[in-house]
Amino acid sequence: MDIKWDDKVCIHAGECVKGLPQVFKIENDQFVIDPSGASEAEIREVVARCPSGALKVEG
Ligand code: SF4
Repeated sequence: MDIKWDDKVCIHAGECVKGLPQVFKIENDQFVIDPSGASEAEIREVVARCPSGALKVEG
């Protein structure tokens, strides 16, 4: 699955990193998304909680 993140839209509320830290992480000050860290359903649930709409699942 392809997850898109728009840094101009993100308000850094942290819902994603708090919700699924094994998928949404900060590494070396960069926001990294590792879709292999959780099931597709879990990832979709956290993406739906993103308050700004910065996260989108494509495909
Ligand atoms: S949940 Fe959305 S707004 Fe919050 S940090 Fe993640 S991408 Fe940014």
